[in-house]
Amino acid sequence: MKMKRFILYFIIFSGIMVILYVLFNTLTLKSKQLASVAATEIKIDSDALEHFSSALRIKTVSPENEKDFDSLHFDRFNDYLAKTYPLTDSLTEHMVFSDYSHLFLWKGSDLGMKPVILMGHLDVVPVIDANRDFWKEDPFGGIVVNDTIWGRGSIDDKIGVIGIMEAVEHLLQEGFRPRRSIYIAIGHDEEIGGRKGAFEIASYLKKQGVEAEFIMDEGGSITSGLVPGIEKDVALIGIAEKGSVSLELSVELEGGHSSMPGKETAIDVMSEAIYKLKSNPFPARLSAPLEGFLAYLGPEMPFVNKMAFANKNLFQALIINEYEATASGNALIRTTTAPTIFNSGVKDNIIPLSAKATLNFRIITGSSIQDVINHIKNVIDDDRIKIKEGNFNTEPSPVSGTDSYGFRTIHKAISQIYPEVIVSPYLVVGATDARHFNELSEHIYRFLPTRITTSNVKSFHGLNERIAITEFENAIRFYAQLIRNSGSE
Ligand SMILES: [Zn+2]
Repeated sequence: MKMKRFILYFIIFSGIMVILYVLFNTLTLKSKQLASVAATEIKIDSDALEHFSSALRIKTVSPENEKDFDSLHFDRFNDYLAKTYPLTDSLTEHMVFSDYSHLFLWKGSDLGMKPVILMGHLDVVPVIDANRDFWKEDPFGGIVVNDTIWGRGSIDDKIGVIGIMEAVEHLLQEGFRPRRSIYIAIGHDEEIGGRKGAFEIASYLKKQGVEAEFIMDEGGSITSGLVPGIEKDVALIGIAEKGSVSLELSVELEGGHSSMPGKETAIDVMSEAIYKLKSNPFPARLSAPLEGFLAYLGPEMPFVNKMAFANKNLFQALIINEYEATASGNALIRTTTAPTIFNSGVKDNIIPLSAKATLNFRIITGSSIQDVINHIKNVIDDDRIKIKEGNFNTEPSPVSGTDSYGFRTIHKAISQIYPEVIVSPYLVVGATDARHFNELSEHIYRFLPTRITTSNVKSFHGLNERIAITEFENAIRFYAQLIRNSGSE
């Protein structure tokens, strides 16, 4: 009897301790947001919007097939840069790579300090002919309607390129000189891998022995109403990006006439393999960038969410469940599997000899291409299926810390220009040109000063890409502020 009572007390006691532990963690979870500091006011040049509009009118499209590359438009963009930004063109060292990618070096006054590299890309994805009619405005018209500017590239990524160029030109006009040298790297083929642009620029900088204090490319943005559980806008700074690998699976079996099919056909075998892969997803995990995300956003959340985030070891399964429920959440917690090409058969009464399928995997931080190959071999467990690696695969990027000069400097500039916004580290699920710069700095961040809302979230790479004019002006303010902030120790 005594023993039973003891066990009961023990259980009650343990329960209370767990509750106290959970409450303690929740109540002591401190906000990581910075106290707001005033920005240095700048007056946006009245020509800035016209400059942006002109840039959107130049069809710098990176085509799917290299033979469709139209150099005429890229030549025009070269002329546009020189004509529109004369001070930047003459007062910084300007180098051109593969004819159309640009690197500007704005020398700082203190050459002992490591430089900063700001990145962007001037190419855009095509507007598919069949979709042209769904655009409400000409995608290459640079048209302004009321408070919004329309066009392919208005978000991805001409706002970055023009935002940086306007900021630098403005600061040069003011006679400002940065303390730390600033490199501006603008690629012209990001949308098709960045081999001729960002890759070449990075190789050159490596040869020069450049080691950057921090690098900032596109990747994260300010999201409105897109982070569940948080009402305020959230600025997401990408501290890592996922890797990517495409694998081609193929199988060859005996064919035959469809009137006497054998037990298994090539199509059956391949379908079975894809089915197995879809029903055995890669394991879910909270990777380092996502842990950072929870640590920064947890304190800003309502009590229940805050409690889960503050005690993520206890609530990990719950958090993962929550993320798994949506495609965008799922992409943050695991390597994803996407069958993208499936080919077999030529005629309705012939059993094909072979079947092929291509799958694209986006690899979570901490995993690797080899892990992906091992996993799929295990899951498919069928030697008849051969696996071939496609081109342009990349391992997941290293994770840049949040306790660094670069992260703090970007965080500060965001708080200055967008005081109402919460800042958080993030995992970028797409690929950016920054991956070519991995060896140039341990501190690579991905943030584009644009506001992504439920209404324009699908517009980049999609239909009706557009951005509010105030967002464009804030982008210029942000880059100017970031350059100013970068002079501090
Ligand atoms: Zn982009």
